[in-house]
This record gives sequence, structure tokens and C-alpha cells, in this order.
Amino acid sequence: YNRQRLLVVANRLPVSAVRRGEDSWSLEISAGGLVSALLGVKEFDARWIGWAGVNVPDEVGQKSLTKTLAEKRCIPVFLDEEIVHQYYNGYCNNILWPLFHYLGLPQEDRLATTRSFQSQFAAYKKANLMFADVVNEHYEEGDVVWCHDYHLMFLPKCLKEYNSKMKVGWFLHTPFPSSEIHRTLPSRSELLRSVLAADLVGIYSTYARHFVSACTRILGLEGTPEGVEDQGKLTRVAAFPIGIDSERFIRALEVPDVIQHMKELKERFAGRKVMLGVDRLDIIKGIPQKILAFEKFLEENASWRDKVVLLQIAVPTRTDVPEYQKLTSQVHEIVGRINGRFGTLTAAPIHHLDRSLDFYALCALYAVTDVALVTSLRDGMNLVSYEFVACQEAKKGVLILSEFAGAAQSLGAGAILVNPWNITEVAASIGQALNMSSEEREKRHRHNFHHVKTHTSQEWAETFVSELNDTVIEAQLRI
Ligand code: UDP
Repeated sequence: YNRQRLLVVANRLPVSAVRRGEDSWSLEISAGGLVSALLGVKEFDARWIGWAGVNVPDEVGQKSLTKTLAEKRCIPVFLDEEIVHQYYNGYCNNILWPLFHYLGLPQEDRLATTRSFQSQFAAYKKANLMFADVVNEHYEEGDVVWCHDYHLMFLPKCLKEYNSKMKVGWFLHTPFPSSEIHRTLPSRSELLRSVLAADLVGIYSTYARHFVSACTRILGLEGTPEGVEDQGKLTRVAAFPIGIDSERFIRALEVPDVIQHMKELKERFAGRKVMLGVDRLDIIKGIPQKILAFEKFLEENASWRDKVVLLQIAVPTRTDVPEYQKLTSQVHEIVGRINGRFGTLTAAPIHHLDRSLDFYALCALYAVTDVALVTSLRDGMNLVSYEFVACQEAKKGVLILSEFAGAAQSLGAGAILVNPWNITEVAASIGQALNMSSEEREKRHRHNFHHVKTHTSQEWAETFVSELNDTVIEAQLRI
């Protein structure tokens, strides 16, 4: 039988291309949450449309890369450097990202950002139109088009203008802010209206409600339990919490290399409890706050100083943005100070790594951890917390989780929830986690593990797409 075709449109393709010669390319697969979600969904014939992460100005390069990507079912959108600068670094990363995470514009260049706003928004729309052109070129009747994230808020409108019959879904992987914050965005109405052109809008948890109230308060439209209505046309808005491919993590723990690695880690940290942080080095992750809370804990609990270690994996991200460079040196400075203060000649309380780990190394680390520390100031979902839980069947460690991460709504009953801005509270929760009885750890873990196993990424993707199909059928019936 014919599987339904699914066009997944996201800013970045799940592969990065590296040029090896005039017409030769090598591809690096990046298995993010979305990729593994869709790999697990067998009922769709999925193709990816997006930017490959490189500037390819010449025709020979574009042709050969298109051919190479086709083997991975990927279709490139070619963005030149200027567009990437204004649309991606500018509008997406410098304006929408902080705003959607309630952080506001970077202090030092607020005015400059405000001044370049219009040109960045123009580039944003232009880039979205380029994505729309590629989708339109590859679209076949009956396809489902699934647009992803804040990079592509203008896309649903472009697509529907090309072809009003296209089934279009749009999904936001970040928080959506309260309407009072969204209201400050000069392009507030245009963005909302473009998204509303979609048939189905998906957002995590309570943020779906924020989106609906922004539409009612800013656009004056009617919000219903189903979504948003504009002159009889309904855009369905619903919450679809994502999960992980939990079996992939559970299986990894049986791989001999992973077992060996776990053994080495256990030997290296014998006699000490292992605390773990895994984050992109992003302003939203609350890494300085986390480390300061750990310092406070050491300050107040002298007996723990040589019995606990914090391993912080900080994956570099957006390294060309000044605010992120500042964050990096800030974190280095705090880590250095604390290690100087509480370290000994043979041991340091914090091991900070500015790099990423491969999948197996990460699984081993999750599995040997006693306490995971997720202190995001805001986070769409935070999959690291899910991955940690999936790898803890043997150890039943404790998860300390920010109440501002989407995951707090699903893992809240098993985790210790904290306000990451309250360093005193986080420090106290570290003590609580390290001293927790095995019965309580077991009980909390059981709750979270059950959730992580039963709410998988595959199920999330299937639910969204079948809901999109249903929404379109219902809309046709209503006419
Ligand atoms: N990750 C990784 N290698 C690392 C550290 C993290 O592949 O060294 C992955 C991790 O497994 C997780 C993702 O990066 O799937 C981070 O997702 P999350 O939702 O926690 O945060 P995001 O980075 O999307 O804001």
C-alpha cells in the first residue's frame, strides 16, 4: 500500500554538509529529537526540506549537493550568507529566541537590534518564501506538510497562498510567551496571522494556551477550546508534548562499549556522588545559576566537599554571537573560582567540558549519574531530563528540574522541582537529592520512567500527523 508522503520542513536539515571538492560532499548526520521521532514512524514516507548549514554560491555545488542529499531523502534550501546573517542569526536567534524564552533582547545592543529590526524581518520573510518555493516545487497532492519552529512562522501563509488545498501543520518547539511579551514584537500581528494560515498548530503543554490568548488579545479573534476562529475559519491549536525514543537509550546500555565506559567512569569517581548537567551553552539553560547553587551547597556542607563531583557538559552553540561568548567566559570564570576554592591537589569539584559527547558516551554518563541537574530559566521541553530518566533503571538517581522547563509538567511528580533563579532553593535541593532514601528514589524514578517509556517521540509524531489529517477532513465537512 502507499504510505502517506510527509514533507518535514525545518530550518536545518538533519544532516550537515561538508564540501570535499567542486562536486563532492560528505554528510554528517545529526540525530536530534525530531529525527529519531520520525525514524520511528513507519507509516509515513518522510522527506526533509531545509538548509544544509553551508553557503553554496555556485551552480555545480548546488547541483551536486542536491544529488548527494537526495540519497538521505533530504532536499536543500540554499540560503546565501547575507540572508543567513539577517534571518537566522538576526531575527531568529537574536530576537525571537530570547523573546520566546522571556529573556528580552541582549542589553548592550538593544538599540542596534531595534534599529535593524525591519531589515531583519524582511530577510526573515524572504527566507521563509525561499522555503515555500522549495516545498511547492516538491509538493504532490495529498502530501502532509509539517513546518517546524520559530524560524518558519511565515511559512504556513506562504504555502496556503500557493495552494490552499495543501495540508499544513506548524509546530513550535520553544515556549510561546505570555501575550504581554509577544505584544512588544513590532511584527506581532503579522507573525500570528501567518501561523494561523496553518490547519493545525502544535505547541508543548500550557504554551498552546498562551498562543491562543495572544491571538485573542492582540488580533481580537475568538479563542475556543478547539483553537482560534477568524470569520468562521478555525485554526486548530493543541498541545502535543514530545518525548524521546526511550528504547534507543535503554538498548544502548547493553552495548559492550557503553558497559566498559560506565565501568571506567565508576572507577574514576569511586567514593564520590556524581552530579550531571548536560546543556547547550545557551543563555536559556541557567548554567551560571546552576554552578552558583552548587557552590553554595559546598559552602554550607563542608562534609560533602570531597564526596561529590559536578560534571557539566556544555555544548558550544551560536559561538559567533557576543552574548554567548560572554556567557562562556562567565561560566569559565565561576568554574575556575569554585575549583580554586574547594579543589584539592588531586580532585576538583567541577569538571566542565566545552564540547559535545557522542551518543554512547552520553548514555554511559547518564547511567552512572546520581543526581541530574536541569536548571533552565525557560525551556520548551528539555529532552535531556527524559534521556537521563531512560538511562536510570539500574541506579534510580534523582532529577532536579527547573519548573520553567516544559518537562516539569510531565516529570514534576518524580523530580525535585526548583526555581533556578533561587540559588538557596537549588542548593537545598542538591542536599535533599544526595541524602534521599533509596525507597523515595525508587518511587520517584518509577513514576518518571513510566512516563518516559509510554510517551515516546514516535507516538508524538504520529498523533500530530493524524490530528492534522483529521482536522483537514473536519474542515471540509464544515463547508
Ligand atoms: N546532546 C548530544 N550530545 C551532547 C549533549 C547533548 O547529542 O554532548 C543532545 C541530547 O542527547 C539531547 C539534545 O542534545 O537530545 C538536547 O536537547 P534538549 O531538548 O535538552 O535541549 P535543546 O538543546 O534542544 O535546547
